[in-house]
Amino acid sequence: MKFLSPRKFRRRQSCPISISIPLFHNLYRQASSPLNPTRLNSLLDNAAQYKNLKHATQIHSQIITSNYASHPFIFNNLFLLYAKCGFIDRGLLLFSTAGDDSRNVVTWTTLITQLSHFKMPFLALNYFNRMRCTGIYPNQFTFSAVLPACADTVVVTYGEQMHGLIWKHGFESDTFVASALLDMYAKCSDVSMAEKVFDEMPSRSMVSWNSMIVGFLKNKLYDRAIGFFREGLRETEVDPDQISFSSVLSGCAHTARFDFGKQVHGNIIKRGLITVLYVKNSLVDMYSKCRLFDDAMKLFYNIGDRDVVTWNVMIMGCVHNDNCEAACSYFQAMRREGLSPDEVSYSSALHASANLATLTEGTSIHAQILKTGFTKNACILSSMITMYGKCGNLFDACRVFEETEDHNVVSWTAMIAVYQQHGSANEAIELFEKMLKHGIVPEYITFVSVLSACSHTGQVEVGFKYFNSMANIHNIKPGPEHYACMVDLIARNGRLNEAKKFIESMPMKPDSSIWGALLGACGKYGNVEMGSEVAERLFELEPNNPGNYVLLSNIYARRGMVEKADEVRQLMGINRVRKETGCSWIEFRNQTFVFTVNDKSHSRTDEIYEMLKKLKELAKKRGYVAAIQFATNSVEGSEEQSLWSHSEKLALAFGLLVLPSASSIRIKKNLRTCGDCHTVMKFASEIFEREIIVRDINRFHRFTNGLCSCKDYW
Ligand code: ZN
Ligand code: ZN
Repeated sequence: MKFLSPRKFRRRQSCPISISIPLFHNLYRQASSPLNPTRLNSLLDNAAQYKNLKHATQIHSQIITSNYASHPFIFNNLFLLYAKCGFIDRGLLLFSTAGDDSRNVVTWTTLITQLSHFKMPFLALNYFNRMRCTGIYPNQFTFSAVLPACADTVVVTYGEQMHGLIWKHGFESDTFVASALLDMYAKCSDVSMAEKVFDEMPSRSMVSWNSMIVGFLKNKLYDRAIGFFREGLRETEVDPDQISFSSVLSGCAHTARFDFGKQVHGNIIKRGLITVLYVKNSLVDMYSKCRLFDDAMKLFYNIGDRDVVTWNVMIMGCVHNDNCEAACSYFQAMRREGLSPDEVSYSSALHASANLATLTEGTSIHAQILKTGFTKNACILSSMITMYGKCGNLFDACRVFEETEDHNVVSWTAMIAVYQQHGSANEAIELFEKMLKHGIVPEYITFVSVLSACSHTGQVEVGFKYFNSMANIHNIKPGPEHYACMVDLIARNGRLNEAKKFIESMPMKPDSSIWGALLGACGKYGNVEMGSEVAERLFELEPNNPGNYVLLSNIYARRGMVEKADEVRQLMGINRVRKETGCSWIEFRNQTFVFTVNDKSHSRTDEIYEMLKKLKELAKKRGYVAAIQFATNSVEGSEEQSLWSHSEKLALAFGLLVLPSASSIRIKKNLRTCGDCHTVMKFASEIFEREIIVRDINRFHRFTNGLCSCKDYW
């Protein structure tokens, strides 16, 4: 739409009329004679519809020349026009220069509403106070406008003060005010106050019911949200709408209550809301999160018009169901259908390829992101850092982090986690300190990486400093993950008794990860007494985890207590616990090759074993001695042979055979890599001058020049 100058307009009077012409024509025709308020207001309304700043300034000058600037109604509409055009600053300037006669409760309320809308909550509160100083009383609309601003500050005190004022002015029983009030309490995480306001409301609209349900969801009270929805259904005067259904489905998804979710599905069909895409997407999400993936798929394929959200729900559902391959193929299918992925699609696809550790897939998504210009999105960049990190590519993870302009806590945390997983503990701690200096407030998950890094460096005091800072400085309650890191840190330093005392002082019941950390240390220091005691607890907590049995049996075996070791193995049989078979993966020409222990199924098996023989000889010349304590499950005398049939060694030999000599060898393993394989990898990296990256269940090992990035600590 083009705004013509009067001269051009006259010249073009015969041209077809565009939308802007009648508006301008009116203005122009009246320019010589004064405009009356009605005409000015209709001009303002019209301009607001098209959000054109040029129109706004021209009308503004007309208002000044015709001397209507102090007319409250016109003043209000002009301010609103600037706000609608997205120029709240101009609106504020207009407001500050206006005289008191043009500002009444309506104009103040409009200003507060717009500031709240523009996410300037503190300024909105400031203007609210200024309004009261001028002696103007707020009305129900002012309160409804200022309460969302209170909610946005997330400082519940502001909201509470406002609540007091609402009482003072007698608006507590107004449905709109009460709805805004309970919404504010719910957003500020004061659910009990929200409920109190709700209970005291003389009449409740669907909006108030929805505010309560959404409030419960926000505070992770999913069962309460479902309960509230059911109660709402029983009330005859309220009719659940799409927001109610979508919210309750989210509650079902989080609690895996598919039984109720299915009832909701029926209700949606009954009310004819099944045609609403927004509701359908919530249904797909509910089914996939409840692990009823077939139902989710059925709905997905029956949805006629799928939007980005539908695809995102499906991609995230696959990730949630541990099917990351499917997630990647849905992502590609979405692109083939011609839809443009958004932030969520990219982040989920990156998440999937990170879990699969498929660098090729991840890099191709990176290329697409570069093409579509999402390169400034902090959320996507964080996912990209994690993806490169999990694919074993520390260099590119650092590069993406350094190229990110606007860092937030998520991207800092992602990079700290990558350093930690790659064994660069000091870098992780340094980065954390840098993050604090930048004024970024750390999160719960940030501390998991920081404390793990501390445990890696063995600096117990530093670990305690950060652990104590969680509650004392950052107001974060340490969770089981943090306690597990601390137990690991203390126990790995050989301070087993101290670690045990630390566990006993925990405010919560210690879980298996915490006892597991202590058992690992008992194994390292050969503490049979504590080891067997801790293992007993673990057998109760997780009777099906083979790792605990193996650890205890090894503790006995190393102390020469063969009978005891056998007993544990027998217990494993009685409890029907089977040791997970070790598997290693390696990618070659976009194909994944899987090797199991003693695998002889590959077409190039002979060459693989020949390569291993050669490697063993070369390594022995450099001082390699087989670490036979890692040859569990083997007959006496054949330990060395059994060590050389471990899956990661087979994958390594295959990699050495097929991959070009300059490229690094990337291996994934489903279990923790054993000490012997770790040593062999170090030798191989030196002998063949190769970078070898092994991602085991716990972390990354990057072998170069005979050394590992984990510094033999894993
Ligand atoms: Zn091994
Ligand atoms: Zn290592």
